[in-house]
Amino acid sequence: MAKHTVTLIPGDGIGPELTSAMCRVVEAAGVDIAWEVAEAGAGVVEKYGTPLPEHVLESIRRNKVAIKGPITTPVGGGFRSVNVAIRKALDLYVCLRPAFSIKGSGARYDDIDIVIVRENTEDLYAGIEFAEGSDAARELIEFAAAKGAGIIKPDSGISLKPISISGTQRIVRYAFDYAIANGRKKVTAVHKANILKHSDGLFLKVAREVAAEYAGSGIEFEDYIVDATCMQLVLHPEWWDVLVLPNLYGDIISDLAAGLIGGLGIAMGANIGADYAVFEPTHGSAPKYAGKDMANPTAEILSATLMLKHLGETDAADRILAAVRTVIGAGEKVTYDIRRSVTGSTEGSVGTQAYADALIAEL
Ligand code: NAD
Repeated sequence: MAKHTVTLIPGDGIGPELTSAMCRVVEAAGVDIAWEVAEAGAGVVEKYGTPLPEHVLESIRRNKVAIKGPITTPVGGGFRSVNVAIRKALDLYVCLRPAFSIKGSGARYDDIDIVIVRENTEDLYAGIEFAEGSDAARELIEFAAAKGAGIIKPDSGISLKPISISGTQRIVRYAFDYAIANGRKKVTAVHKANILKHSDGLFLKVAREVAAEYAGSGIEFEDYIVDATCMQLVLHPEWWDVLVLPNLYGDIISDLAAGLIGGLGIAMGANIGADYAVFEPTHGSAPKYAGKDMANPTAEILSATLMLKHLGETDAADRILAAVRTVIGAGEKVTYDIRRSVTGSTEGSVGTQAYADALIAEL
């Protein structure tokens, strides 16, 4: 029997080619893993009547650990995000996205070392929405007016932004515990509490209370308004350490951080809860590159290094990261996105699998 059994969700778009490259690299690093493949997304709707069949969640519950490729979400109509549904169903309340510089990535900066801790279950991602013209939207509009909360135009669609004390406590505690366990120095809570008094205002109040619990930990605490954070991240990326954010700001700032380190092709991530963890890159399914053996599997592979650490396979994780640094640093066998950032042209880039082969040769 293999030492670890991990649920593998290949996803769609570029997902299957990235996860196959990732599996090859992890296996070449000598980790004894049995992959339990579970398909989700648009491709399974016809067979199971849902993009997220129950057996996929059962597999994750059984194995406790999963790694996935991206899954496409139809824009506007169609089914809700499978990615969000997995996070909700398993209460994966932390979205952890370390963003650090890799020499040779073509990024504008070379000294980035930021960790994004994004709340993953609340905020505008709670999925509590009222369609324009629906009875529910009309009742809500009447309710807001009757309570003196404000006038909402009758032709409005509405999305709610719930933020709770308990949800904020656990994400801010996670940020501090992560900072302590990983030798970080500072936690910054990011918000828009000056405008959104009852949602972000509560987030900030609770974050300050939790920070007070950690007063003796040696971890500094500060808070920052989200718009100012965006500007200062670009002006002074070296200021920042661990950032803890409500869901929507965390989503947006994760992509900003990905941009600081050289793009979505190298931005890793993990969704973590009390019982389960699902690892996945920050990027989506990039449909226009699907099946072309072009996309950069680094983000998927670095997400696997987070998974390996979670499984106690720290040595393999470190060797894979070292191989990524060596190959991207050398700049000869890199995918189109990195090549273009470094040279201004995609000429001389290699495909997804050839890049994975170059990593394997360095392990
Ligand atoms: P995207 O991240 O898929 O792609 C945006 C662009 O980034 C691509 O066109 C490409 O230029 C670049 N890119 C992304 N990943 C890359 C990689 N590995 N290598 C090289 N270049 C890469 O964002 P999108 O186009 O907004 O979303 C496409 C679909 O993915 C949507 O349906 C969206 O809902 C979904 N999505 C899924 C997840 C997830 O599965 N967790 C996350 C984000 C978006």
